Amino acid sequence: MPSDRATEAKPFERILYVAFDHLSRDHGVLKTANPATDLIVLVESARMTTGRNWHAERLFFLISSARHFAERLETEGFRVRYVKAPTTMDGLRQTQAEVGNLPIWAAEPSSFRQFAQLKEAGVNFIANDFFLTSRGDFALWAGSQKSFVMENFYRAQRIRLGIMVTAGQPDGGRWNYDSENRLPPPKNYSWPDYLEHDRDAIDVEVATELAMVPTKTWATTREGALRQLDNFIEHHLNGFGPYEDAVPADNWALHHSLLSPYLNNGLLHPSQVIQTVLTAYRERDLAIESVEAFVRQVIGWREYINGMYWFLGEDYRENNQLNANRKLLPVFQDSSQTKMNCVRSTVADIEERAWAHHIPRLMILSNLALVTGTNPQDFLNWMRERFIDASEWVMVPNVIGMGVHADGGRLMTKPYAAGGAYLSRMTQYCKGCHYDPKLRVGETACPFTTLYWDFLDRHKDDFAKNHRMAQQVHGLKRLSDLPELRLRALEVLSGLDQGLV
Ligand SMILES: Cc1cc2nc3c(=O)[nH]c(=O)nc-3n(C[C@H](O)[C@H](O)[C@H](O)COP(=O)(O)OP(=O)(O)OC[C@H]3O[C@@H](n4cnc5c(N)ncnc54)[C@H](O)[C@@H]3O)c2cc1C
Repeated sequence: MPSDRATEAKPFERILYVAFDHLSRDHGVLKTANPATDLIVLVESARMTTGRNWHAERLFFLISSARHFAERLETEGFRVRYVKAPTTMDGLRQTQAEVGNLPIWAAEPSSFRQFAQLKEAGVNFIANDFFLTSRGDFALWAGSQKSFVMENFYRAQRIRLGIMVTAGQPDGGRWNYDSENRLPPPKNYSWPDYLEHDRDAIDVEVATELAMVPTKTWATTREGALRQLDNFIEHHLNGFGPYEDAVPADNWALHHSLLSPYLNNGLLHPSQVIQTVLTAYRERDLAIESVEAFVRQVIGWREYINGMYWFLGEDYRENNQLNANRKLLPVFQDSSQTKMNCVRSTVADIEERAWAHHIPRLMILSNLALVTGTNPQDFLNWMRERFIDASEWVMVPNVIGMGVHADGGRLMTKPYAAGGAYLSRMTQYCKGCHYDPKLRVGETACPFTTLYWDFLDRHKDDFAKNHRMAQQVHGLKRLSDLPELRLRALEVLSGLDQGLV
């Protein structure tokens, strides 16, 4: 583990605190660093590593990345302390006690909680530049909108950043290629091999401390993150768009980039990812629908979600406007606690490598939490603990707003509830499943199909004034078996509570 080692340098003048999600030499507080007079401090806090059911793969990734980063700074000539302490503030106070009561500097933290804690402790901040849109600029955009439609923000971003636009118009003549994308899983398709990342001595040290054996899925260095980016561009970018929403049974990554962990812990910056993608687009014959779809994710969705986190405020996290109070289902803790093939396979994937792409997150996991009426905060906390890329700023709007519609529609105008028909079209899990997506009543009815209708029935008054829900709610009138369906829904919910469905 790296430690303070330089002796002949001048006395320290400042402490620069680098959070585990700010591992960048060029952004955040380190862009102001002076090796002669600054002491760089990273804190591995017990609060971050213990006390909750954190996925071992996630802890491994975060800790090993931070230790590699600290070592790299040392080799660049910085004086670095990697401190283990009960909390971040304990670690910083401990450092001050040893080196003197020096001013502490940090980049603005990525969550309300850490921002408040560091502020109270008198830490000095430099603006958070880990995104392409400042919090102030986003607030200006959001403050001028009647509803927060991501598509509008995304088009403004394209123009503001000058990405794939000429004279204010989109290259290729369209802003959106959804009609070419969103295809169901292909049959007889050869997916490229997964990129694996070899483990070094620091990785082994961290894994030993955590008493786990990591997969080779996640890199823990900037070099590894750059390899992942190159691999994406070489083997996946061109095919990204068409299958980005598909959920095949024979491949867990598809053409997704697997870059979110590095974007979120600072090893990669969105500007670099986008520039590399655009260079490839200029130099090679890449499909515009794929490049546009990827650019949309990074300069659109990612920036929008971060902006909305800060815009909506600290209390947004506590929303529960559908009054959903079911306890977390046992299947979330153990994939074997269900006969639903899609849920079992998705949770098993997460158990293995702490990742699933956006459709399993939204249309399988969140959909299950939504239609079962699971408590949003319990579900949010589970998602925070189990995903490799889960940071507070990104999970809160994605889960509370998009996933389980707990905010009364502030972020998304309608809930993403779906029955078995959607799942049988977009996933390959229904074939061979114990349940039949076409049935809504009876022992073998797909629980998603039953609960989708039951959810609409339970909330028809909540959605009465929502014109985007009118057609779905109206569909209830066509159900001649509604009384039977309500009874079946009670059985399904009770079975899910016991891990039997
Ligand atoms: C309920 C739910 C929870 C999610 N939780 C997280 C999370 O904790 N952390 C996280 O980084 N992403 C989250 N996402 C967004 C998305 O699922 C992941 O970013 C993506 O699956 C990561 O894999 P990838 O890097 O291969 O992404 P790709 O599909 O290759 O997309 C490229 C990049 O776009 C960005 N992106 C795309 N969609 C979003 C989005 N909705 N919000 C923020 N960034 C986005 C990510 O940085 C991602 O790396 C969530 C989405 C949903 C619906």
